[in-house]
Amino acid sequence: MSRIQLITFDLDDTFWDIKSTIINAEMNSRKWSEDRIGEKIEWGTFEDFMQIRGGLVKEDPSLEYDLGMLRKKTIAHHTKKFFKDTKDLNEFIEDAYNFFLEERHKVTFYDDVLSVLEKLSSEYMLGVLTNGNADVNKLGIGHLFDFSISSMDVKSNKPDKGHFVKARELSKVDFRDTLHVGDHPVNDVLGARDLGINTMWFNLNNLNWEVDKKPPIQFNRWSQFINLVESTYGS
Ligand SMILES: [Mg+2]
Repeated sequence: MSRIQLITFDLDDTFWDIKSTIINAEMNSRKWSEDRIGEKIEWGTFEDFMQIRGGLVKEDPSLEYDLGMLRKKTIAHHTKKFFKDTKDLNEFIEDAYNFFLEERHKVTFYDDVLSVLEKLSSEYMLGVLTNGNADVNKLGIGHLFDFSISSMDVKSNKPDKGHFVKARELSKVDFRDTLHVGDHPVNDVLGARDLGINTMWFNLNNLNWEVDKKPPIQFNRWSQFINLVESTYGS
């Protein structure tokens, strides 16, 4: 028997590449907005985009973990001048946001993610801990997980302990019998390790571990994962 009872996973950059997903979603959403409004919109540079988001978060720190509201406020920032009526603007924002969300779920899973999750789900309790706004139910893989926790659910982002504590509460599994897997050295590996949770680092690009002198157990292909769990914790 493996001494691990619960395995929790990050989503973005752990199950799929997030940069290409978001760039596509952003580009398609911009086109959708311009088609709907019937005008060219001044979107600015990537730096402008980040600056607008930074300003919004400064005004309202809860947007740090409420990505949905942050997205809606960003849409409003670019499009409000085209609407005289607040009701029309709000309706547009809802539709634009829903379009973005659909696009944001058009992900390409890394090789073997789905078959590995299928196999694991019959042996372990599985959970999702994400700082993003991907929804496993929208991706058709919700049935593989016992629970899914987003930043909105716990009003904080990993590496804060909110996601991990909530996972323990929902699963009733101790941290020492839990394994957390993710791509981010700090948000995933350190966040979990600091609480006494077992960790594995999904290191797709074979980066060096530069955080401290204790490199975590790592893998770069999902096909390696089940063997790695069994050889590390017993099968
Ligand atoms: Mg990630």
